[in-house]
Amino acid sequence: MEKKLKDQVAIVTGASSGIGAGVAKKLAEAGATVIVNHPVPSTQEAADAVVAEIRADGGQGISYQCDVSKEEEVIRMFADLARQFGTVDILVNNAGLQRDSPFNEMTLEQWNFVLGVNLTGQFLCAREAIREFLKRGPVPQRSSALGKIICMSSVHEVIPWAGHANYAASKGGIMLLMKSVAQEFAPKKIRVNSICPGAIQTPINRQAWDTPEALQSLLTLIPYQRIGQPEDIGKAAVWLASDDSDYITGASIFVDGGMTLYPGFSTNG
Ligand code: NAP
Repeated sequence: MEKKLKDQVAIVTGASSGIGAGVAKKLAEAGATVIVNHPVPSTQEAADAVVAEIRADGGQGISYQCDVSKEEEVIRMFADLARQFGTVDILVNNAGLQRDSPFNEMTLEQWNFVLGVNLTGQFLCAREAIREFLKRGPVPQRSSALGKIICMSSVHEVIPWAGHANYAASKGGIMLLMKSVAQEFAPKKIRVNSICPGAIQTPINRQAWDTPEALQSLLTLIPYQRIGQPEDIGKAAVWLASDDSDYITGASIFVDGGMTLYPGFSTNG
């Protein structure tokens, strides 16, 4: 792969698993030094395994523990990384989770937990990234933009999801968080975009693909007739992080095999 992200430093949150791990590997393949963020000591080993794969492929990276929903931990992570690597050029705001429940039984704890990681976590990391981009100033030989932020949203920023109101609300929130920040900082040449994955084969949605029956049922929602893989998202992330997408900011890019094409209407409704 062409080294389009050479000499750039990228943080990928929640990169010890699934989409984050796939994005981290693709960014490293494109030449970035990648920080593989993970939330708690028990995920250290998984994060280190992602770093080992990156290094085995000739890339560079380290693991870093930080719970993105905790302000003091996020501030410390950005300060530590700026000290160690000089700056940060790319943030992939990927960490996210689900705590599903019928709405009338949803606890405030389930609501707050999902919003805390999925939405507040993206706010905290984006704010520190923007502070760092502004402090560092332009480096045109590395990138035309002052910095790039990629928010991992979901098809559920537009598709309502019964039984998952907290998750859908967090992704709807990410859409206008992303667009508002993109609008505010476009004049400073900071680009902010979202990737909206459809069904990607990761631990978060195992019950949707781990039996042939479940997979068959899932495929009725996907016109392109295959489940997505983390590397499908990784390739989109490399493009959004590179100067190839230099005129794109404030966009939600759907990487979903057509899931948002209302497949129920494909046979005339
Ligand atoms: P995943 O395999 O469960 O990965 C989520 C990652 O986030 C894990 O590494 C997890 O660590 C980490 N994480 C959780 N809480 C965190 C915190 N407080 N701070 C830092 N990291 C934290 O799920 P995934 O499918 O790759 O999901 C990644 C992102 O894609 C999420 O934002 C999700 O909403 C989005 N997405 C996924 C799909 C899909 O079909 N898979 C579709 C649309 C959107 P632990 O392992 O310790 O929990």
